[in-house]
Amino acid sequence: MSVIGYDLGNLSCYIAVARQGGIETIANEFSDRNTPCIVSLTSKERSIGSAAKTQIISNYKNTISNFKRLLGRPFDDPFVQNEMKDLPYKLSRTADGGVGVRVKYAGEDVEFSMAQVCGMLLTKLRSITEVNLKKPVQDCVLSVPSFFSEVQRRNLLAAARIANLNCLRLFNDTTAGKISTPCFPDPAYLLTFFQITKIFIIFFQITKLSIILPWLLKPKFKFHHMLSKNYVSNITYIMALAYGIYKQDLPAAEEKPRIIIFVDMGHSSLQVAAVAFNKGKLKVLATSFDPYLGGRDFDRLLFNHFADLFKDKYRIDVRTNKRAELRLLIECEKLKKQLSSNSGRMTLNIECLMDDKDVQGAMTSLNSCLCIYGWGLFNCYSFNHDYIIRTDFEALCAPLIQRVEKPLRTILQDAKLQSQDITSIEIVGGATRMPAVKSTIAEVFGMKVSTTLNADEAVARGCALQCA
Ligand code: ATP
Ligand code: MG
Repeated sequence: MSVIGYDLGNLSCYIAVARQGGIETIANEFSDRNTPCIVSLTSKERSIGSAAKTQIISNYKNTISNFKRLLGRPFDDPFVQNEMKDLPYKLSRTADGGVGVRVKYAGEDVEFSMAQVCGMLLTKLRSITEVNLKKPVQDCVLSVPSFFSEVQRRNLLAAARIANLNCLRLFNDTTAGKISTPCFPDPAYLLTFFQITKIFIIFFQITKLSIILPWLLKPKFKFHHMLSKNYVSNITYIMALAYGIYKQDLPAAEEKPRIIIFVDMGHSSLQVAAVAFNKGKLKVLATSFDPYLGGRDFDRLLFNHFADLFKDKYRIDVRTNKRAELRLLIECEKLKKQLSSNSGRMTLNIECLMDDKDVQGAMTSLNSCLCIYGWGLFNCYSFNHDYIIRTDFEALCAPLIQRVEKPLRTILQDAKLQSQDITSIEIVGGATRMPAVKSTIAEVFGMKVSTTLNADEAVARGCALQCA
């Protein structure tokens, strides 16, 4: 039976299968390899993926998108509360305190847990795969962000079970696959963990400060990740695996390893890994991430810019009209992509955006101070022309671009690397297509970025490779 790799992104999913002669990515019923992470429910049916995308505006209350990050979180989690403000559909607290979604489905008010929604999406992915392979599919490898907690991972497994998928527990570094990996958890990490814990206990005993206790009891992100049982594959490891399999010219086992930095910036997060390669062997030296920085934050910045502009210029407040808000957000994403490939002048035009008004947006009349989305920083702009060019966009997004730097510098520190130790920087994820992101990565590491891996499909391919 074939084992399938599923890359479940916040925006889009990719499917890959290991077949004789290589890894193939599978297209959906619209001949598209990219299946949007969207579930739409109506009075008659549920549509998932590309079909659901067409309903994102017309049926916004019952169309669920951007849900991967809500999986396995408590409803009261500040992240959930913050996300809720921008979501067009209604979130609810499930009986066990988790996140649910309230929708109208088949004429009734229904609540689905996030695992159920994710299960629906995985069911669709399984059906796409089965149609393509013309046989039943069960075993799979799923991608998961490095920063997902144990509870989130378990919820993803529950979603896989709902979809009748058997998610293989393959990412166990103590056992070797085709490529051997360091034992997991790495003894060095364990040692550091125990040493640090010991220091904390001694410190606590000496100071008897009750304030330390809650802090100590709070799960520590990094250790939690490193020591957690890995049910599903770590995304950075998957990319490294995909790279290692294809590269034929790696140094022999006794030689100095080749060090590659992997950067994945998708819709909602940024993940970085430093990996040392020898023939038949890879070692993850360090990982770092910003779980709250992705392409969607750039869309939101543009959105805020134009929403404020249209308020002044056309006397319309798109924030008070969900349909107008969604349309503007979609146009902002399109504009962002155009600005990646085009350095010329552009404008944003939308017909009948709200109150029958056609709007045209540029970087104009915004000489006042703007609150920068997400950080609450203040910044002054003085764009004043009737078009948009890339440099305007980059100036607007400067605070986000600065945030890209931090996990990159952290990886150099944690892996104790200098730029001369690094052979290449491999970038994947849609948001790395932004020239400013690329140049920031190149600047931090002091070398050009490389795109050996397919930016969209690398993760799914790596998943399929795990069991090839
Ligand atoms: P995540 O990895 O965060 O869960 P994902 O895997 O679904 O999300 P990707 O498909 O890697 O995300 O990337 C999607 C993001 O990349 C979107 O924000 C999209 O707007 C952005 N993107 C895609 N192409 C371009 C482009 N040419 N220029 C700028 N941004 C782009
Ligand atoms: Mg991704």
